[in-house]
This record gives sequence, C-alpha cells and structure tokens, in this order.
Amino acid sequence: MKDLSNENVVHIKKDNIEYLQFRKLLQYEEIIHCYTLSKNNFDVGSNNTYEINKESIKENYEKIAKCLNFNIKEIIRPYQTHTNVVKCIKNEYNEYSIFPKELTDVDGLLTDEENIFSLSYADCTPIYLYDTKKKVIGNIHSGWQGTLKGIGKIAVQTMINNYNSNAEDIICCFGPHIKKCHFEVDEDVANKFRKKYEAMNDINDIITYNPEKNKYNIDTQKINTNLVKELGLKEENIIDSGICTVCQKDLMHSYRANGENAGRNTAIMGKRRKNI
Ligand SMILES: [Zn+2]
Repeated sequence: MKDLSNENVVHIKKDNIEYLQFRKLLQYEEIIHCYTLSKNNFDVGSNNTYEINKESIKENYEKIAKCLNFNIKEIIRPYQTHTNVVKCIKNEYNEYSIFPKELTDVDGLLTDEENIFSLSYADCTPIYLYDTKKKVIGNIHSGWQGTLKGIGKIAVQTMINNYNSNAEDIICCFGPHIKKCHFEVDEDVANKFRKKYEAMNDINDIITYNPEKNKYNIDTQKINTNLVKELGLKEENIIDSGICTVCQKDLMHSYRANGENAGRNTAIMGKRRKNI
C-alpha cells in the first residue's frame, strides 16, 4: 500500500482511516493536527455538499476525533470563500460548530485557547501555524486567490499584533496542495501574481512559462514561504509536506483532478483540552 511518509510528514493508517501528520508538530503534545486522506471515502464535504451529506460527514468527524483523541463538540469550521479574512477565536464554542453564521467568509482561524479548527481543502494550501512559546495555533486556507491576497502573511501578522507572538517562535507547515507541477494557469492569472509579487527576487522561478502549452506554472509554496519569511520566520521553522494533491489524486480529494464534484480533505489544527 502506498505510503506518503517523507522527512517532514508521517502517513498514519488507523481504524480504517488514513491521515498525514507533520513530524515537527508531533513534538508538541498540547496540540492536535492532521490532514485527512480520501481512503474509504473519507470526505468532509464542500460548502455545497455539506447539507446533503451532513450525517456521513459527522460520522467521519467522529472517526477522526476518536483517532486523535478529542471530542467532536470542540470542532469549529468556518464557511470558506477564498477571502483574506482571519479571525481570532475565544473559547466560545461548545457545540459541534459547522458554518456558524459569524464565521461566514472566513478563511483563517487563530486562537490561544482550547479549540479544534477544521478547514476543508481540495488543492488549496493548508497553512498550520504554531507559536511554541505563546501557544497560539492557526489554520489558514490559502488557495491561489488566498495566496494572491497574502492570507498567510496576514495570519502571521495577526499573531504578532494580537497575541504578542515573536516571529522566531512560530512554526509554519504547508500541507498537501496543488504544486507547481500541476498548477497551470493562463496569462491573466500569471500576470496577477507577477504584478503582486514582482519584488520577490525569485519571481522568475516562481512563475515559469510553458511554450508548448502556452500556459504558466506557479509555485505558490515559494510565495507563501517568502511571505512568512518577510515577517521573520526562521528557515528551519517553515516546513512543506512536499506532496501535490493532483499527483496523489488516488489518495486525496483534488479539485483539478475531480472537478466540481470533488470531495474535501480536512486539515485539523487544535489545542488539546486538559481534561476531556
Ligand atoms: Zn503535481
């Protein structure tokens, strides 16, 4: 059976579900995290399919909660719409909270309290943030639009401003996403990225032209890395899973590979309750 483990992530197969975890984040017992794979139809649904499949989605959340040892009542999931909006969450949710009204058009969550964030992904980049000193966590959805809007940088800046985080204490992990090998766009999108990020000194490696197809390939992971480095994150604390969702489409939901009907993988990032 295929195993996606590499120097940065470990591929777990447990109780009929499969998920990835970052070796670096596993060093911190106070946090809970994973990226679920599509094995055995594990799917948390998209904004459009959630309502129809909510019973099976809840069962899937129950399975992953059991594996990672948390209570699904702690789950908070925003209604993501590719914004650059990052919200700071208090310990204010006591029910299984999927799409609470006040978390509509929100694509990043931060907290220093005990909450479990579940965001959904099918090619977009999940950014896991952890301030190891101030114990602040973040789960940030950065698709190409979010990357163009710099949501990863906005999230780190919010940690610095609102939680007094020091950049050198922050770990930033990029989960599986559509990588440069498959993120192929037309000139209009390429131009938006070039215009926004022309000051990056590796912009010519980030955006490359493929004359055979008359398409451009964009390395969003390099952009996100540059953005968090600009705020002072240390090189060794910026970790990429190295996994492309389209290359691994047999193991994970991918929008490019499966289109409109693609399911969703979830990135979970949370702080463990002391007494459950
Ligand atoms: Zn690929």
